[in-house]
Amino acid sequence: MGRIRLLPDAVASQVAAGEVVERPASVVKELIENSVDAGARKIDVMIRRGGISLVRVVDDGCGMDRDDALLSLERHATSKIRSAADLQTVATLGFRGEALPSIASVSRFRLTTRERNALAGTEIVVNGGKIDIVRDGGEAPGTQVEVRSLFFNVPARRKFLRSENTESRNIEHQIHLQAIGHPQIAFTLLRDDRLVFQLPATTTLGDRIRDLYGAELLERLIQLHGVAPRKIQIAGFIGQAGLSRQTRTQQLIFVSGRAIESGLITSAIREGYHTALMKGQYPVTFLFLDLDPATVDVNVHPSKREVRFRDPGAVREAVARCIQQTLERGRTEWQQKFRAPTVVPSIVGTASALPQISATITPRELPQLEREFALRGQKTVEPPIGRREKMPISSQENLTQDRARSTPVQQQFQIIGVLNKLYVLMENANGLVLVDQHAAHERILFEELRRRMEEQGVPSQKLLLSQIFELPPRDADWVERNMPILQKMGIGIESFGPNTFKIDSLPAFLNVSDPAQFMRKVIDDLKSASSSSSEMRLGEDMIAKTVCRHAVKANDPLRYPEVEKLIRDLLDCDLPYCCPHGRPTMIQISLVELEKKFGRKV
Ligand code: ADP
Ligand code: MG
Repeated sequence: MGRIRLLPDAVASQVAAGEVVERPASVVKELIENSVDAGARKIDVMIRRGGISLVRVVDDGCGMDRDDALLSLERHATSKIRSAADLQTVATLGFRGEALPSIASVSRFRLTTRERNALAGTEIVVNGGKIDIVRDGGEAPGTQVEVRSLFFNVPARRKFLRSENTESRNIEHQIHLQAIGHPQIAFTLLRDDRLVFQLPATTTLGDRIRDLYGAELLERLIQLHGVAPRKIQIAGFIGQAGLSRQTRTQQLIFVSGRAIESGLITSAIREGYHTALMKGQYPVTFLFLDLDPATVDVNVHPSKREVRFRDPGAVREAVARCIQQTLERGRTEWQQKFRAPTVVPSIVGTASALPQISATITPRELPQLEREFALRGQKTVEPPIGRREKMPISSQENLTQDRARSTPVQQQFQIIGVLNKLYVLMENANGLVLVDQHAAHERILFEELRRRMEEQGVPSQKLLLSQIFELPPRDADWVERNMPILQKMGIGIESFGPNTFKIDSLPAFLNVSDPAQFMRKVIDDLKSASSSSSEMRLGEDMIAKTVCRHAVKANDPLRYPEVEKLIRDLLDCDLPYCCPHGRPTMIQISLVELEKKFGRKV
C-alpha cells in the first residue's frame, strides 16, 4: 500500500554503493533479511546446486501490493528509510533498496507476494533485469522469491564461484547467522531436496543454539551479560575456557541484531579470553552487542557486513571486560560440576562454611604411587599409608586465607596414579580425569604471580651468588625497556654496564637453578611471541606467562605430596581448565564416553 519510495538521488548517493550480489550466499542473506524486516515468523529456504541453479526463500511476512512489488524492483526503492537522517538510526536490516533489483538483474527471477488480507497476490517474472510477466498470483500471504540460474548473463562473475559444496557451505553459514540472530523465527533449509535443518521458533537463544548445534555445545557455553558504561549492552553465550575451534565459523558477532564481521570486536574477544585461548585457535561466541543506533554507522559496507563505532575504544573495552568476567564466573559453575562428589561424603550438611576440598587416596592405589616416587629417590616423610586413607585432607590447613574462594561444597575426587611421570589420573563423578602436571603448574604459578603483582609485589628471594651476564644488543634493549615489569615480578635485575646485567634475586616460588640461562630463554620466547601476537597482548601478562612456562620447564618432576597440592591449587585457580597459553590442563573422559568406546552403549 504505497510503502515503498524511491530514495531521492542525494540520499541514494550516500548509501555505500557496491556490488551486493557476489555469490549465492549473498542472495540468501539479502532475501532472508528482507523476510525478517517484513516481520516473518517462518522462513523456508531451498537451494539447489550450491544455490547456483536455485535459491528460493519463502516467508509469511507482510507481503506487498502490486505497486510496491513493482517498485521493489527499482534501484534505490525502499520502505525502510526516507531521508539521509534516517541513515543515523536504521532499525531494519535493509535500507538501501538495492538487493532485489541487483539480484533480478543477474538471474531468472520470480517474485510472488500477497498482503495478508488481500484477495489476490502478484507474480512478477524478471529475466536478467527485464520484467517479462506481471500477473495476479494465488499464493498464501507472504512473499516468495525464486532466483534461478544465477549469473547466467554475467559469465565473468560465474567464473568466480567456487564448487557447489563450498557455495552450499557458505549459504548454510549465512542461514546459521540469521537463525541465531532471530530465534523467534522458524527456519528450514532444504538442500538439493534434502532437509538440512528445521528449526522451530523459540523464545530463547539457548534453545536455538541447541536446536542448531546440539545440546553438547550448549553445555559448554556460558551466558554473557554485562552493561558497560555508555550504554553498551552485551548478551549471548561464549565458550568456556578451553573450548575453541580451528576456524572462525562459530565466532558469531551481532551488533543491533545484525551479524557482522569486526576486527575490533574479534580482538576484544581475544583480549577477554587472554590466556584461556590456545594460540591459533578461535573462540566460540554468540555475542550480541546492543548500543544506541546513533553510535553505530551501518552504512559502511555494500553488503552491510561491517559497521563503524563512534567510540571504538569503549566498545573494545566493554567486550573484553565482559568476556573476562564471564569466564571467571564460569569457573564456579564448572568446578561444581567437575568436583561433584564421587562418594556421598558424611560431612555434607555440617555447619562449616569453610570450603572442603579433599583428595582422598584409596588404599589400593597407594603402593603404586609410593613405588613411583620411591623410584625417583624422592620418597618423602609422609604419615604411613594406613592412616592417610579416608582422611580427607581438608583445605583449611592448606589454603592461604586470601585464596579460600572455593564454593562451600564437599568436593571429592580420587587420585588414581601418575601416567608417564606427567599425567595425573583421577576419578570424579563423571568418570576419568587426566591432568597435565606441567600445564597445571604453569597455570598456578601464573595466577600466583599475577595476584602478587596486583598486591604489594612479588616477594623475591636473594640468590646466593648474584650473576652477571651479557646479552646481544637487541635483547639488552628489550630488558632495559621492560625492567620495571621484571622487577615488579620479583626478578631483581639491573644494568651492569653496556649490554650487561646483574641478576641477584628471583621470585621465591620460581625455583630456577641457572638465572641467567632462565632469563635468556624467557627473552627468546617473548621475542618470538611479540612478532606474532598483537601489541595488546604483550605487556605484563605476556611476560608473566612466559616466565612461568620457563620456570616450570626448569622444575624437577613433582613428588607425591606435591601432586595432591597441585590438584588442590589448580582447582582454586580462576581459570583452572587451561594453562596460561590456553592449552587444556585437564581432560575429562566421561563414563558415557568410555561405555561408548567399549561398545556397551551405542
Ligand atoms: P531494502 O531491503 O534495502 O529496502 P530491497 O531491494 O531488499 O531493499 O527491497 C526493496 C523493498 O521491497 C523493501 O524495502 C521492502 O519494502 C520490499 N520487500 C522486499 N522483500 C520483501 C519481503 N520478503 N516481504 C515484504 N516486503 C519486501
Ligand atoms: Mg533488503
